[in-house]
Amino acid sequence: NKKVILKDFVVGFPKESDMILKTSETITLKLPEGSNGLLVKNLYLSCDPYMRGRMTKTEGSYIDSFTPGSPLTGYGVAKVLESGHANFKKGDLIWGFTGWEEYSIINAPEGLFKIEHTDVPLSYYTGILGMPGMTAYVGLHEICAPKKGEYVYVSAASGAVGQLVGQFAKLSGCYVVGSAGTKEKVDLLKNKFGFDEAFNYKEEHDLNAALKRYFPEGIDIYFENVGGKMLEAVLLNMRLNGRIAACGMISQYNLEQDEGVHYLSSIIGKRVRMQGFIVGDHYHMYPKYMEMVIPLIKEGKICYIEDIAEGLESAPAALVGLFSGKNVGKQVVVVARE
Ligand code: NDP
Repeated sequence: NKKVILKDFVVGFPKESDMILKTSETITLKLPEGSNGLLVKNLYLSCDPYMRGRMTKTEGSYIDSFTPGSPLTGYGVAKVLESGHANFKKGDLIWGFTGWEEYSIINAPEGLFKIEHTDVPLSYYTGILGMPGMTAYVGLHEICAPKKGEYVYVSAASGAVGQLVGQFAKLSGCYVVGSAGTKEKVDLLKNKFGFDEAFNYKEEHDLNAALKRYFPEGIDIYFENVGGKMLEAVLLNMRLNGRIAACGMISQYNLEQDEGVHYLSSIIGKRVRMQGFIVGDHYHMYPKYMEMVIPLIKEGKICYIEDIAEGLESAPAALVGLFSGKNVGKQVVVVARE
């Protein structure tokens, strides 16, 4: 059983060498006697930015730290090999929390989702049909409630969440601009995902001026994925009664202390609603989301891009690549295809 182990807690930018690949000789392909858990074979693993927070020793976070010396855990797609739980049976496909290893024992399977639609790529359950898809849906539709004709700005727009936020906002009749960190990603935003405009934030010395260029009338909705200087520039450009979904602030995750956000008081005079959210609180809406998104996929009305890394041994590099923008689209690791 190959596993990806966290060596020790991480300070600063995570490196591939913070994780090690270990092969244990013995594979216990058996559930312990009397267990009401599952033995699963992991197929696809999801690389997600929040995992950086779990590499640090934290207290009072919404999610526990990883344990140094043990395999990482995270969202994935897996096949049930053995079940001690009434809701699951051998052969079921599931998505949810599993281990960064070939085989895992999941002791509390209640939080897992059973995969019912198998006529779409299974890896989609780490993205558009899984946690990032729900994040885009909840943040845009529940928190920002977009209306036709509104001006929407999305940062980290070509990633797992951003590419969907932009397309959902277009389907709601909004004018949508996205930013990303390379020319290739900017081209994708404009030519593949159908954003109205897109720009490379790394080429803009003055983010305020850039936003004024793309939003001469201001921003109604900001889907916040990056934080820091970008958030400051956005605050200067929000319109009256604007909404900000505070989804993530990846530019801050590797810093020992958050950078100060100037202009935060702009949200007062402009009556902007800025709301943080954690997708895990909203999974009761998953059936409603599936009802919306499955037809969009089948009718080709939504485009979804993945960046696939082959083999568990490529997982550490894939995960740390998120923080330098190496991934184009949703970063997935294939452990096995069936
Ligand atoms: P992505 O697929 O977008 O991958 C991360 C991307 O972030 C990189 O490719 C890179 O793209 C960009 N990035 C990295 N460092 C920086 C930086 N310093 N400044 C600006 N951009 C940077 O990840 P996801 O779509 O999975 O996640 C997007 C955001 O949503 C993250 O902040 C994440 O934490 C958050 N999130 C929050 C959830 C919630 O429940 N609230 C749930 C899921 C995600 P580029 O080349 O464009 O720089």
